[in-house]
Amino acid sequence: MLLLDVPYGEKDTVKALGAKWNSEIKRWYVKNRSDYYKFLKWILNKTNNGEIEFLCDYIYIVESKQICYKCRQETPVICFGVERSFCLDYESYYDEDNNLLNQSETESVEFDNEIHIMPAFSPIPESLLKYLEQHFHYHMGYSNFRGCSYLANHCHRCGKLQGNHFLFDEPESPFYIDSAKAAAQLKLYQIFLPYDLPVYAEITFGSEDMYIKKCAPIYRLDIHTNKVELESEPVLSLDEILNLSSGTYFSIK
Ligand SMILES: [Zn+2]
Repeated sequence: MLLLDVPYGEKDTVKALGAKWNSEIKRWYVKNRSDYYKFLKWILNKTNNGEIEFLCDYIYIVESKQICYKCRQETPVICFGVERSFCLDYESYYDEDNNLLNQSETESVEFDNEIHIMPAFSPIPESLLKYLEQHFHYHMGYSNFRGCSYLANHCHRCGKLQGNHFLFDEPESPFYIDSAKAAAQLKLYQIFLPYDLPVYAEITFGSEDMYIKKCAPIYRLDIHTNKVELESEPVLSLDEILNLSSGTYFSIK
């Protein structure tokens, strides 16, 4: 289900396109994912012309740890994970004057049901942002390296910003998942989404992502009550994970 932001004067237009009214939350909404493309005008603001990604059912806070470059102590760091999402190319459904094109069909929605690392997405719901700041020291901070402010991890001990480059891009970084062993370092907190969330997102699809679900524990998290419940243990044992990660080398001569 997708919630819409509809100015009063446009209610008849969205109704004609098939949107429904929810009197409890006083919002227009669309039920079928295959109809979302008709309603792009009434979601997000159009300052950003990127592809809109719809995050479905739930998202994850992905926790790992790294050594702070400043105080040399271990600190927790987080990013996001997504298991079900799909995107529509915003540009392709509108003409230059921002009029909806008569697009009769949209690609069907299919999920691979693996968890993928999502370094960033925007906008982040206010309640989640508050939770991340309070519990994970994840908030806006100025990066000298980048010369600007962005939402980032900060050391739980000394408060220094932990740059994204050292979290995602280098082999051995906490969220660079290239083996079962790397995936086993993660802890996943699943957050239920009552509605599909339209966002601009950066998602990395790695060939070893299937290990994330198999090697990391998954907890169900309610960010409003801070209640955490174990949802599933890793399917692979530590021995199996190490076996998968070490490999056995044979002479090829
Ligand atoms: Zn530190």
